[in-house]
Amino acid sequence: MQKIMQIKDITNYLENIAPRSLQESYDNSGLLIGLSSATITKTLITLDVTEEVLDEAISKRCELIIAHHPLIFRGVKKLTNSNLTERLIVKAIKNDIAIYAIHTNLDNIIGGVNGIFAEKLGLVNTRILSPKGDGYKKVVCFCPTKYTEKIQNAMFAAGAGTIGNYDNCSYVLNGQGTFKPLEGSTPFLGEINKLHKENEDRIEVIVPDYKLNDVVIAMISTHPYEEPAYDIYTLNNSNQLIGSGLIGEIEDAMPVDKYLKKVKKILGASYIKHNKLVDKPVKKVAICGGSGSFLINVAANNNADLFITADIKYHEYFEHIGNMTIVDAGHYETEHLVKELIYALLIKKFPNFALQISEKSANPISFM
Ligand SMILES: [Zn+2]
Repeated sequence: MQKIMQIKDITNYLENIAPRSLQESYDNSGLLIGLSSATITKTLITLDVTEEVLDEAISKRCELIIAHHPLIFRGVKKLTNSNLTERLIVKAIKNDIAIYAIHTNLDNIIGGVNGIFAEKLGLVNTRILSPKGDGYKKVVCFCPTKYTEKIQNAMFAAGAGTIGNYDNCSYVLNGQGTFKPLEGSTPFLGEINKLHKENEDRIEVIVPDYKLNDVVIAMISTHPYEEPAYDIYTLNNSNQLIGSGLIGEIEDAMPVDKYLKKVKKILGASYIKHNKLVDKPVKKVAICGGSGSFLINVAANNNADLFITADIKYHEYFEHIGNMTIVDAGHYETEHLVKELIYALLIKKFPNFALQISEKSANPISFM
């Protein structure tokens, strides 16, 4: 029997892994066409929504298409079939096919598009190439000492206290809190109109921005006080788990031409473009699937021997000659692994749901 789900079961799960708040400001990830409450029995996964992919969804009766690149990217002011995007939107709506995009939010997490790219290239010791700044808040709250552990655990469970490969990180300092309950209050401790002194702990935790609400709600709902006192501080720490590109190492350094032949094969690239190959073995490799030339200087500053991305402009090949090999391996070629990634994420959570990777999702660029 076919398993029936609601679109939001799938999108909520994916956005728990790659929250939409992590997408770049120019992006348009999320449910673009359809209702999140709609029921579905089959889903098609693709890099792009094209005419061929849409026809495939129609013929296979997939009610939802999950794409990496958003079909609707810029403002659509009319639907008169005057261009491809308008035609595809109309066709999807007429055929009752929902369209969902998970784009730069999936690029910006460590286990995202670049994660699977790095894995295929055999990179180890990977980290985000350009971590996002201002990604953290500090939440400080004050509670009676016997509630400290309960509140800490609630905040940890909601996503606070993770620093690199450590979780449950917090700082606790003991002190004295004072308050005077006024008329109309129902204090957990103390008496109306009497100053109360309480032995309290100050708990400090670090929280990624996108989990702040959840953590504050978890703290307030666990706190025994009617009016818990808490502070939220903006931090300038960058979030090492969120950002663009990845940098890592190949286990055994090898000549750059030898490694690039391997890369070409792994990505299924017909050809790759590069600047003058640097005459030293490759060890440190930076990558960014899709248009990543904005990271060329960042890769060089991180002493990468090689930077692999796509959509590099002519003049950019002049940069870092002799220091770093810059490679354009193609947009499709450096991103098509995203289909496999989305499939793997979903099948792990929904093993009995009908998921398919599109057979029609293809590179629009041909070579001769
Ligand atoms: Zn892309």
